[in-house]
Amino acid sequence: MESFHMPTRVIFGKGALLEHGHLMKAFGQKALIVTGRQSSRINGSLEDCITTLKASGIYFAIFNEVEENPSLETVEKGAVYGRLEKVDFIIGIGGGSPLDAAKAIAVFMHNDRLDRKAILETKGLGALPVIAVATTSGTGSEVTPYAIVTDHEVRTKRNLGQMVFPMVAYLDPGYTMDLCTAITINTAIDAFSHLAEGYLNTNATPWSDALAEEGFRHFAKVAGQLDLKKDLKDLSYEARAGLMRASAYGGMVISQTGTSLPHGMGYALTYHKGLPHGLANGVLYPPYLKSFKDLTKINRMATLSGFEDLEALLDFLTPLVATDVEFSDEEARQFAKEMASNTAKLKNHPEPVSEEDLYHMYVQMITRK
Ligand code: NAP
Ligand code: ZN
Repeated sequence: MESFHMPTRVIFGKGALLEHGHLMKAFGQKALIVTGRQSSRINGSLEDCITTLKASGIYFAIFNEVEENPSLETVEKGAVYGRLEKVDFIIGIGGGSPLDAAKAIAVFMHNDRLDRKAILETKGLGALPVIAVATTSGTGSEVTPYAIVTDHEVRTKRNLGQMVFPMVAYLDPGYTMDLCTAITINTAIDAFSHLAEGYLNTNATPWSDALAEEGFRHFAKVAGQLDLKKDLKDLSYEARAGLMRASAYGGMVISQTGTSLPHGMGYALTYHKGLPHGLANGVLYPPYLKSFKDLTKINRMATLSGFEDLEALLDFLTPLVATDVEFSDEEARQFAKEMASNTAKLKNHPEPVSEEDLYHMYVQMITRK
């Protein structure tokens, strides 16, 4: 049976927030803006949000303490502040970290009688309404129901486990114009990895594949410009818009399919080795893609993404994901063991994979800058 569910209203284009901010009136009289420490003040998204809230007569409070890979402690702090300010809904502004923190805060606020453990263990909890204003083109969090948080008690990242689709996603590529080269590339690789892991997935359907294929086509138009040696602050508006579309398509795809091996395996590289999310997945892509025995969809994906074949795609990806990260054989064995117990991600991968295979992927990923 095939099913498709993506209830988020997407407003895409320059001035999206200023022109359509009035849509937020439907969600209450006071909002909590959840954002990172700096970037939303610099790229204009916070100012546009405040302008549009004032014009719509919506009161607001600001929580701007979200760090990269947000921790459950930060989420709890944001929820306490939101309760104190008696807000009706949450607006996340930023990359995936503030957007995910906004969703998690919305869950904690809606379930204020439950403690952290109960929230992590109970399925199907509700949340305050969430609005997403994306300022990176990577995670697609603005159109997914997932909230990825860092849980220091179990020393890794995890999905909060509740389904929180944003009510409205404002996608204005203008906010991404000043992203530096490294963040542009890491987030673009993340967008590509969502399209790929959703396409090469046991849960893929004709509906999700149609979106993935459209996402690959947008990625193809920009891929040639992604070069670590260039200053990507010069990337055109059209190229930024293409990446933002690819990212949103990727989010819509994984909302249906979930992610698979690289995302599950990358969490350890982010938590223990500090690799940014997109790079942590990307560095695993050469061994992941090479592990497939059935190349039918892989070849189609490569062509749609603008490459002659898998080899050409790998030649493009490999230099973009080179890293100096080091880990011991013992660590590789431990990471592989943890991933082998992640049945949720393993069941999304269409071919059999053993703990030994996972270990070899970690070992093979070591490429040098
Ligand atoms: P991020 O962690 O949100 O932000 C990375 C850096 O980029 C921060 O320093 C941020 O600064 C800066 N930044 C954001 N927008 C900017 C802009 N327009 N111009 C300049 N700098 C900007 O990065 P991300 O890759 O977007 O998100 C990664 C997180 O998303 C991870 O936790 C990952 O697990 C999660 N994720 C979620 C999903 C999902 O479906 N929910 C899917 C994939 C990944 P400030 O801190 O100052 O804002
Ligand atoms: Zn991702």
